[in-house]
Amino acid sequence: MLRLRLTRRRIDRQPLQAAHSAQFNTLLQSLAVPEAVTSGHARCKFCLTLIHTLDEVAAVFPDGGAVQLVCDKPACLLALADLVESRTDLM
Ligand SMILES: [Zn+2]
Repeated sequence: MLRLRLTRRRIDRQPLQAAHSAQFNTLLQSLAVPEAVTSGHARCKFCLTLIHTLDEVAAVFPDGGAVQLVCDKPACLLALADLVESRTDLM
């Protein structure tokens, strides 16, 4: 059962991995996101889940002088959309 879930999860992630552009990866590198992920300190701003791979990072945005990460869960992407609507500095 666990194995089946892992396989399905991997398949579900493939479109998002393909969506990561070279430009987005360069941005992540410039913000030291890979280092945060490998050191186990990268958490989603909204669900607080630990982010284990760069492929799980769906977005980044500035917040109070820090760089916030957003994971690829639909609920977190919706929360980000709401935040962007309420903050003119993110437009
Ligand atoms: Zn999240």
